[in-house]
Amino acid sequence: MSSKTFRFSPVDPETSNKAVLLTFDDGPKEKEELTSMLDTLDKHGAKAIFFVNGYRVKQNPELLKLIDERGQTIGNHSWDHIDLHKKSKAEVQKQLGDVSDLVEELTGKRPQFFRPPFGTGGDVGKEVAKEDGMLYMTWSNGSLDWDLKATKKDPQLVIKNVLEQLHPGANILMHELPWTKEALDSLLTKLEEKGYGFIDPASIDLEQG
Ligand SMILES: [Zn+2]
Repeated sequence: MSSKTFRFSPVDPETSNKAVLLTFDDGPKEKEELTSMLDTLDKHGAKAIFFVNGYRVKQNPELLKLIDERGQTIGNHSWDHIDLHKKSKAEVQKQLGDVSDLVEELTGKRPQFFRPPFGTGGDVGKEVAKEDGMLYMTWSNGSLDWDLKATKKDPQLVIKNVLEQLHPGANILMHELPWTKEALDSLLTKLEEKGYGFIDPASIDLEQG
């Protein structure tokens, strides 16, 4: 896999090399949690990509609209959150296409970013994402917020994991989870204290994948 798919050069010279991309996967799930995360992002003037699953969007279309209305970017994370790399092309096309169609129907915008569940899209995942005009990306900094053995639902451990793997251009993987919501304000403050800015997904060159 090319490193270009998950490391980014910040466009804003003000931030020099010290900028990170914030991403939140597997939503939209729950209004209070999501609203809190959106409020925290606003507080820090930060933009993020919310990689959504189609079945969740179907359950919570108003939350999908909320992410868009609050000025954040929506990415495609497949319909069912399944491992795509051994699926047929037709199946992958449906997993991605149905999400993009629904997001477009609800927001008027088609996702420009795709992240495969488990980071395993395979060649067919890359191909279909490209055909749909999406930049395929995994991540370079896993918060481990999804790993209950590693983080034990402890916001402090989520912060620690991210800071330990921090590097300029980091693509930080987080999820819409209660302990991540709790960690977010403090995490963003610590990143700012270390001189990091937040990459606006709208500034990412879609051709770099
Ligand atoms: Zn996921």
